[in-house]
Amino acid sequence: MPKIGYRFNPETLSYDKIETPLRVKIGRLFRKFFSSLSLAIVIFFVISAVIDSPEEKALKREKEEILAQYNLLSNEIGKLDAVLKNLEERDDNIYRVIFEAEPIDAAIRRVGTGGVNKYEKLKDLKDADLIIGVSKKLDELSKALYVQSKSYDEIEKLAKNKVDMIGSIPAIIPLSLKNPRNRVSSSFGYRMHPFYKTVKFHAGMDFAGAVGTPIHATGNGKVILVSTLKGYGKCVMIDHGFSYQTLYGHLDSYNVKVGQTVKRGDVIAYLGNTGGFSTGPHLHYEVRKNKVPMNPINYYFNDLNPDEYDNITHIANNTGQSMD
Ligand SMILES: [Zn+2]
Repeated sequence: MPKIGYRFNPETLSYDKIETPLRVKIGRLFRKFFSSLSLAIVIFFVISAVIDSPEEKALKREKEEILAQYNLLSNEIGKLDAVLKNLEERDDNIYRVIFEAEPIDAAIRRVGTGGVNKYEKLKDLKDADLIIGVSKKLDELSKALYVQSKSYDEIEKLAKNKVDMIGSIPAIIPLSLKNPRNRVSSSFGYRMHPFYKTVKFHAGMDFAGAVGTPIHATGNGKVILVSTLKGYGKCVMIDHGFSYQTLYGHLDSYNVKVGQTVKRGDVIAYLGNTGGFSTGPHLHYEVRKNKVPMNPINYYFNDLNPDEYDNITHIANNTGQSMD
């Protein structure tokens, strides 16, 4: 109900009704409208700041879910990384040591995660640290895995090579010492020469025995020489690879041909007394590495236990002169 105003009129001694002009009425109406509108706007903003719309709620939930997944992923990558680090450690400290390969440099194993710009586009994201961190970890892991798999390839190759090497390097005595007629008669080194009677370098080891005693290849290899050599009489030479060769001299007869592949233990020839300087039936045996004569006594490791080694060294060192 609009309020109706009255004013006392002293001339008529009565109350006159006060009329409000239309202009004032319209003005009041506008003021009322605008104050209500601004209040409504304020209330709208307050509510929308506090309460999310359904779309916003769904987006927020989705984002939380993604972040949770990222965290989970980050943890899983951490676990994989730990497993890989263990493999790397074993690789460097066990496998590569066994096969005499250098450990892989840490800088190569864990290469940097590439150019800085690679993650630039992620930088502006709200949770950039987490997302860039996970991406970097994944990149590092995949590179480290690649390096590790390459290392295993190398180890595999080395292992195969090692098996060949172990089979090829001279490792047995070329004739049986179980037969009491066979014995070490002269060792490697400076010995009195049986003919010149001066001290000369004896490049091999002599084994005295009966003519016809079987002579064995001391490692796997290929026969490269079957003929008479000056100073060695009838002679067989085997190339074992890995820079090793062996020579068997003063033979009576041959059991192999040039080019033939032989296995350790194969009978290649028979003991004899051929060659001008031979002072009796014996085998002159040489082990050469890179064409340089080595002391054969260090190449009997498949045959001798420590006592036998000691014994054979003792005998060899107490023979005054060589047999050739
Ligand atoms: Zn000799």
